[in-house]
Amino acid sequence: MTINKVKKMKFKGIPASEGIAIGRAYLMAADSYCVIKRNIEYHQVKKEVSRFKDAIDEAEKNFEKQHKIVVEDIGKKYANLFDAYMLILKDPIFYKGIIKIIKSEKVNVEYALQKVIDDITKSFKMMDDPYMKDRVHDVQDVGNKVMGFLLGSGKKSLKDIQTRKIIVAHMLHPSDAVDIKKGKSIGFATDLGGKTSHIVIMAESLGIPAVVGLKSFSSKVSPGDLVIIDGTRGIVYVNPDTDTIRSYRSEKKELDKIFRELIKLTDKPAVTKCGQKISLAANIEDVEEVDNVKNYGADGIGLYRTEYMYLNRFNLPEEEDIFKKIKGVVENISPAPVVVRIVDIGADKVSKQLKIDVEKNTFMGLRGIRLCLAHPIILTVQLRAILRASKFGNLSIMYPMITDVSEIEAANEILKSVKEELDAEGIEYNKNLKVGVMIETPAAALDIDYIAPRVDFVSIGTNDLIQYTLAVARDTESVAYLYNPADISVIKLINRIIYGAKKSDKWISMCGEMAANTLYTELLIGMGLRKFSMTASYIPKVKQIILGTTVEKCEKLLEKVKEIHDTNDIIKELQESRNKVVEK
Ligand code: PEP
Ligand code: MG
Repeated sequence: MTINKVKKMKFKGIPASEGIAIGRAYLMAADSYCVIKRNIEYHQVKKEVSRFKDAIDEAEKNFEKQHKIVVEDIGKKYANLFDAYMLILKDPIFYKGIIKIIKSEKVNVEYALQKVIDDITKSFKMMDDPYMKDRVHDVQDVGNKVMGFLLGSGKKSLKDIQTRKIIVAHMLHPSDAVDIKKGKSIGFATDLGGKTSHIVIMAESLGIPAVVGLKSFSSKVSPGDLVIIDGTRGIVYVNPDTDTIRSYRSEKKELDKIFRELIKLTDKPAVTKCGQKISLAANIEDVEEVDNVKNYGADGIGLYRTEYMYLNRFNLPEEEDIFKKIKGVVENISPAPVVVRIVDIGADKVSKQLKIDVEKNTFMGLRGIRLCLAHPIILTVQLRAILRASKFGNLSIMYPMITDVSEIEAANEILKSVKEELDAEGIEYNKNLKVGVMIETPAAALDIDYIAPRVDFVSIGTNDLIQYTLAVARDTESVAYLYNPADISVIKLINRIIYGAKKSDKWISMCGEMAANTLYTELLIGMGLRKFSMTASYIPKVKQIILGTTVEKCEKLLEKVKEIHDTNDIIKELQESRNKVVEK
């Protein structure tokens, strides 16, 4: 008798969406079309162009349908993507570009389409901005959809999944997310993709565990293989041994139980055992997340990232659109506070309109306040919209990517003139609007004593602060092991910021991912932090730590940690302290 031995494999990728999923693999075929160049005669050009237009119409109808499904199933925010897809279909670089190639080179439409996709891909890939890199996939997704209609070949759809399966793919496109439904697809793992991919954002909103950036993983998996996705640690097991399966099953059971327990803390205020109230606010990107903010019992919104309004489009949003969106959030959460962050975009599609050169390194380049000051129209329009929305609730604004006080002064000058404009027009706004800054560059951190007295509040953006302090790009897989909030240089810098802000009697919060990581909750309280802001679903976990500790214990922990230099030893110390709280 022959026993077919299955190969046990373990892969390490980028943890994208937390949680554990165990199931059988469903393999998505890569988008591989065999495109052949055909030279055509002059009289055939018209026919090729009309084939192209028909395929565009079909793709448009398909996106409209998907738009409707997403609005109904996940929410309007996620459906915006399909608006962007429809814009790509009609974008002159895409639409006219393809027709031009058909006419000038006298070639078949499939070849012209592939050529344009390849050209756009090449130019996007030259950008260092991780967001823009992810947008390459949007263009490819649109291109593949049109190609599918031209070639009449149906790509395998996730809708085909009838039972609970784990999706294994080289790359998943945002439009695939439409078919990823809770209960049918229980997790996914992909070779490509970054943390800012739309598909990852959607997975998080659906609560589906996911690991991305697994390199050539998908080519090693066969349909029906047993797969474990550990979205928290970024690990994927293929055909694991029974011990691993057993241990993950029990961990999953335990996690579900813990979550059910933690959710019971929602109505409890976050107060330490010694009576210190800690504010736990939420980070959001759109009005549709406000319900979640309320469900998890957040004390308002500590970071409203406004980039969503500007990205996935080829033009700048109108003042009225920005106003309506911000008003929607502010009104909905009122009387709780909302901190609206001034848009933190880098070189992207907007830059095409603004004729900003594509930079080599957008993390170090024109982003956040720098971009706003270089193109004051962006800031002026956004500030007008924000000020108009300010009368509908408790709103403050925050400038991103500050490195120097002169940037705050320049932005405040624009704010002043916008206020004068509104006064002249008789438009009401909150005259006492608070203005704060994000401290996310070492320059701003080291200058906190000078910055803090000149603003109403500060918020620590650890995602960027860590990358700039340690010189480790936050999206670069090869150096990800160096990106560590527990590095003593980061701890010292954060301690310094909190101390500086408090000395100036300014309120200070933290809105980077470190605020959501329970490993650091006690350490940050020990430093004097009293305001945290995070993805709403993390609030119960952080609250559990707050409820089980005292300020004195946290301060002692900080003193201990300050004496340690080795990052692993610091982590050990923090873990031991946290365990004492959780295990009680
Ligand atoms: C941060 O840098 O910590 C932050 C909250 O901003 P973003 O992640 O949007 O850059
Ligand atoms: Mg930041």
